[in-house]
Amino acid sequence: MPTSSLDLQATSEKQYIYTFTEGGAEGDATMKNLLGGKGANLAEMANLGLPVPPGFTISTEVCTYYYEHGKTYPSGLLEKTLPEALASLESTMGKKLGDPDDPLLVSVRSGARASMPGMMDTILNLGLNDRTVEGLAERSGNPRFAWDCYRRFVQMYGDVVMELKPVDARHEDPFEEILDRKKAARGIELDTELDTNDLKELVGEYKQAILDATGMEFPEDPLEQLKGAIGAVFGSWNNERAIIYRKLNHIPGYWGTACNVQAMVFGNMGESSGTGVAFTRDAASGENIFYGEYLMNAQGEDVVAGTRTPLPITDLKAQNPAIYAQLDDIRMRLEQHYRDMMDIEFTIENGRLFMLQCRVGKRTGLAAVRIAYEMQQEGLIDEKEAILRIDPEQLVQLLKPVFDRQQKEAAISEGRLLAKGLNAGPGAATGKICFSAQDARELSDQGEQVILVRIETSPEDIKGMAAAEGILTQRGGMTSHAALVARQMGKVCIAGCGDLKIDYRKGELHINGAEQVFKEGDYLSLDGTTGEVIAGKIETRSSEVIDVLETGNSEAAMSETWKIFNQFMRWADTYRKLRIRTNADQPDQAKTAIAFGAEGIGLCRTEHMFFGGDRIDSVREMILADTREERKTALEKLLPYQREDFYGLFKAMGDRPVTIRLLDPPLHEFLPHEETEIEDLSRKINLPLQEVLQRIDNLRESNPMLGLRGCRLGILYPEIPAMQVRAIMEAACRIRKEGHNIVPEIMVPLVSTVGELEITGEIIHKIARRVMAEQETGINYLVGTMIEVPRAALTSGDIAKHAEFFSYGTNDLTQMGLGMSRDDAGQFLPTYQNLDIFHTDPFCSLDQDGVGRLMKISAMEGRKTNPDLKLGICGEQGGDPATISFCHSLGLNYVSCSPYRIPIAKMAAARAALG
Ligand code: ADP
Ligand code: MG
Ligand code: MG
Repeated sequence: MPTSSLDLQATSEKQYIYTFTEGGAEGDATMKNLLGGKGANLAEMANLGLPVPPGFTISTEVCTYYYEHGKTYPSGLLEKTLPEALASLESTMGKKLGDPDDPLLVSVRSGARASMPGMMDTILNLGLNDRTVEGLAERSGNPRFAWDCYRRFVQMYGDVVMELKPVDARHEDPFEEILDRKKAARGIELDTELDTNDLKELVGEYKQAILDATGMEFPEDPLEQLKGAIGAVFGSWNNERAIIYRKLNHIPGYWGTACNVQAMVFGNMGESSGTGVAFTRDAASGENIFYGEYLMNAQGEDVVAGTRTPLPITDLKAQNPAIYAQLDDIRMRLEQHYRDMMDIEFTIENGRLFMLQCRVGKRTGLAAVRIAYEMQQEGLIDEKEAILRIDPEQLVQLLKPVFDRQQKEAAISEGRLLAKGLNAGPGAATGKICFSAQDARELSDQGEQVILVRIETSPEDIKGMAAAEGILTQRGGMTSHAALVARQMGKVCIAGCGDLKIDYRKGELHINGAEQVFKEGDYLSLDGTTGEVIAGKIETRSSEVIDVLETGNSEAAMSETWKIFNQFMRWADTYRKLRIRTNADQPDQAKTAIAFGAEGIGLCRTEHMFFGGDRIDSVREMILADTREERKTALEKLLPYQREDFYGLFKAMGDRPVTIRLLDPPLHEFLPHEETEIEDLSRKINLPLQEVLQRIDNLRESNPMLGLRGCRLGILYPEIPAMQVRAIMEAACRIRKEGHNIVPEIMVPLVSTVGELEITGEIIHKIARRVMAEQETGINYLVGTMIEVPRAALTSGDIAKHAEFFSYGTNDLTQMGLGMSRDDAGQFLPTYQNLDIFHTDPFCSLDQDGVGRLMKISAMEGRKTNPDLKLGICGEQGGDPATISFCHSLGLNYVSCSPYRIPIAKMAAARAALG
C-alpha cells in the first residue's frame, strides 16, 4: 500500500536516490520494489563487475509521493538530493552536464517493479543544446555523430516531454514524417546516410515543429531538460497506454515507477559502434541458443522500434569475435547468476562493450515450459522451481491449434505463400485483415477473427493486438515491440516481413512478387512457428499434445513437446494436494477428461439428459401432469433413459467418483415456446390445446432464477428425485455387478436451509435402500449438497450434519453473493473493471474477499460438525489458477473444471502446494 504522507514527512532523511557504478552499487536485484526492475538489475550487474555505465536511480517512492501530493516532489529532492547525485556522477565521469567543451550526456529511463516493455519512453542524449553539441563534435572528432545525437534527443524530448504526437493511429509520427521528407528530398533510404548538414537542418525543423504545435521553445538549459525528463517519466506512469498495460497484466497503480539517470554510451559513433538486444535462450521456442539482434552505428531505440531490420547476433561473431566472446561469457554468467533466461541490452562504443539492461526474459508458453524443463535437466534449478517457473495459463499454448497440415500444403502448392517474416510468436492464426488497432477491436467485437497488419506496432496498439488472432508487421525484428508484446500475450506474430507494402491511407496491402492486392477484410493466415504468411483462410487442427491426449497418436507422442508436457504433468502430480475432477455429463466428455488426467467427475448436470430424442415429450408430459399418478406415468418412461445415461457415465469413469446433481433448472425451461410446437405437444400427450396453454402459463415465474428450482422441485414433487435416484442406483448396481467399485455422490442443488436437505436426503436414502434390496447389491453412495446459496454457506454447521460432502457451486454463489446475474453483468462489468471496482471478472476468478469468505466460513463450520466432510468446487472458477490456489489454502479436497483446463488446474494445484 502507498506509504502515508505522514510517514514520508516523519522520515525526511529517507533515501530517495541510489547510485550505481561498475563494481559497486547502493542497490541490488532484491530491491525491485524500490528501484524498479531496471534500476535493481543495473545495480546487480554493476555489483557483478559487469561493464555498466554509471548512474543513479530515483526510487518508486518518489513517484508515489508525486501522485499523492499533487505532482510535487519530496522536499529537497530537486534542490539538494538530485544535484548531489548528479555531482557525484559528474565526478565519476570526469564530465559536467552542460559543459560546452566536454558535456556529460545522460539517458533518463523509467522502470517499474514489473517490466513494462516499451510502455514508458526513454530519453537519450540529454544535456545537448546548441552549445554542447559543438563541444561533443569537437571532443569526438565526429560532428556527424554529435548532430545525430542531438537530432535524436530533440525528437525524443519533443515526443515524450513536450508531447508532440501523431494525430491518430492512421498517421505517422510527426518527427518521422519530417525525417521521411528529408530522406526523400535527399534521395536516400537509411538514417545513416544523412550527413551532418541534414542533421543540423533536422534539429532546426524539429524545434520549429515543436514550437508550432505546442507554442513552447525547446529548452536549452540541461538542468531544466533533466527536470523535465524526470517529470515526464513519473507522468508517464499514468498515461493511457501504461494504464491499459497495467490492467492487462494486473499491475496495481500504486506501485509507481522509478527513474534511472545514466551516463550515455554511444552506439552511433560509427562502424565500430553498435547496439543490440538479446535473450540468453530463444524466447519463442525455448531452445538453448544465444539469440538476439544488433545494428552497427545505431542507438538502442533503433533495434527495438523496428525502423531498421537488425542483424542476427550470430553475425556479430564474424564481425567482431572479441566482443561476441565477451558477450557470450556475460550471457553464461548472467544465466548462472539469475538461474533463468535473461533479456539483455548492450551497446558497443568504439569497440568497447557496455551492458545497459538485464531482466528475466519474457517468453512464449512453449519456451517457458522448455526452458524450465531444460534448466532442471542442466541442474540449474530443481523440479519444484521448474513448476514455479511456469504460469499455468502458459500451458494453454501447448494445447493451442496448429494449421491443418494438408490444407496448408495445398495452400502453398496453389501458390498462396506470400512472404516469409520472422517467426516471432508461434502458433497458427487465420482471420480478416485490419490495418489499425481500432479497427481490429471493432471487428473482433463483432465476433470476427482478425489479423492486425501494421508497418510496426507501438504501445498505442496494445488493445488491438489483444483483440487480434495474429499480428503481422513489415518492420522490426524478433525483439521489436510487436514481437515482445505478442509473445507475452501468447499471440501468433510474424515480424519484420520486409516484402509487405502497407498503405494505411488507401487501406491496402501489397506484397512484393504477388499480384493480388489485399484490402481490409480479406483473409490472411499466419504460421507464427515458421514465419509464413499465406493468402486466404486455412483451417486449424489440434496440437501434438492434444493429439496424444485425445487419440493416443503415437507419432505425436514421440515429439519433444509431448515429452516435456508429460514430465510437467508428472511433477505436478507429485506435489499437488488437491485432486482434479472435471465437469462432464456424457460418456465421451468423461473419456476426454480422463485422457487429460481427471480423477473423477465433480459435477454431472442431469438436465441435458432430459432433452434429445423423444424423451423431451415424456419430460413435458411429466411437467404438465396434473396429478401425481399422471406424473409418475411420465417419469416411468424417463427412467430407462436416465439409467442408460448413468450407466454409460459410470462405465467411462471406472472406479472414479462421480458427483451427480439432481435436476436443477426451473421446469418452464423444458417447455415449448412456439405455437406449432405447443399444438404438437397437445396432440402427443392427449390434452386439449387450451389446457396445455393454461398449464404452461401456470408455470411462468417472474424471477425463475430464484423460483421453483433445485431442491424445491423435489420437495414439491418427490417423485422426480425418486426417479433420478432409482436410475442412478440401478445403473450403479449393474456396474457393481460388472466388478467396478463405483461410489456415486448424489448432490442436492440449491439448498438454503437444513430442512430441505433432510427431506430430500430421506427420499434419496429410501429409494437407494429399496433399489439395493431389489438388486441384492450394496452400493457405497454418498449424499451431499451444492453450497450455492449464501444462507447455506452461513449455516453449514447444521447442514453438514446431514451431508457427506459439499460442493461449492460458485456460479450461483457468486450471483447470489454479489446480487449480480451472470447473464446481465456484461452490461456493467467492463466498466466496473475499468474503474477497478473489480480487478477481475468474479465469474471467471473467484471473488476471494466476498464469495471466498462465504466458502471459508462454510468449510470451517461444516468440518467442525462433520470432520469427514468432503469438500470441492464445481463452478466455472474451478479452472482458474488464482481460485485453485485459494481452494488449496481452504483445504478443499478437489477442484472440478472443464476437461481442457485439467492440465492447467494440475499445475496451479502443484504451485499452490509448493507455496
Ligand atoms: P525500455 O524500458 O523501453 O527498455 P530503456 O530505458 O531500456 O527502455 O531504453 C531504451 C533504449 O535506450 C535501450 O535500447 C537502451 O539500451 C538505450 N539506452 C538507455 N540508456 C542508455 C545509455 N545510458 N546509453 C546508451 N543507450 C542507452
Ligand atoms: Mg530496455
Ligand atoms: Mg447452481
